[in-house]
Amino acid sequence: MTNTQHILCIEDEVDIQEIIAYNLRRAGYKLSLASDGIKGLALAQTQTPDLILLDIMLPDGDGRDFLRSIRSKNNNIPVIVMTARSEISDRVDLLDIGADDYIIKPFEFVELEARCRAVLRRHSGQNQQALSYGDITVYPLSALIEFGNHKISLRNRELRLLEIFCNSPEILFSKEQLTDRLFLISDEVTENAVEVYIGRLRKKLLQSNVTIETVRGIGYRLMKYE
Ligand code: CA
Repeated sequence: MTNTQHILCIEDEVDIQEIIAYNLRRAGYKLSLASDGIKGLALAQTQTPDLILLDIMLPDGDGRDFLRSIRSKNNNIPVIVMTARSEISDRVDLLDIGADDYIIKPFEFVELEARCRAVLRRHSGQNQQALSYGDITVYPLSALIEFGNHKISLRNRELRLLEIFCNSPEILFSKEQLTDRLFLISDEVTENAVEVYIGRLRKKLLQSNVTIETVRGIGYRLMKYE
């Protein structure tokens, strides 16, 4: 991995953009700036940055629509959405349409940088071709899981969770460990959030020979039936 990672910041408020750019450049990142969604989308395609910081309220539209456009072009660049508390009602939805993380404005720069680092680190491990365990194969780039004749699509967090398990099958993870890895800085995340995603994944894995086992009081692990 190169040292200089390239971040594209799509933000129309000049003072916020300047603060972000100043601080991230000081932290050693290369920055590109766009003040609306159309320009941002164009830069995302031509420059293929390592990470995109995306404001929700842009002068030419809703950041979520730009996020969908980025994802519909099968573009896997990680995206952190920057949003005021009042602008989002459903954070799970935000993540399910393809955001890798979000940060609530106003934020401290150290928090933004921590999130950038975490998303970049996680993503650099995500670029592998495929992960296999039992009869399942997980394709991170296309967010698909295959077994037998089944081809099932995964949402963002389901994929992330399954990647964690497939990278270390049969290893126990506590709920706390999974929460940390799934939700980054886990403010306002309830403990059963992990259970929700485990439940969804179990359903999708029902007809495979792989399952996520609960070990009472300890955690979860990925197991296969022979
Ligand atoms: Ca804005």
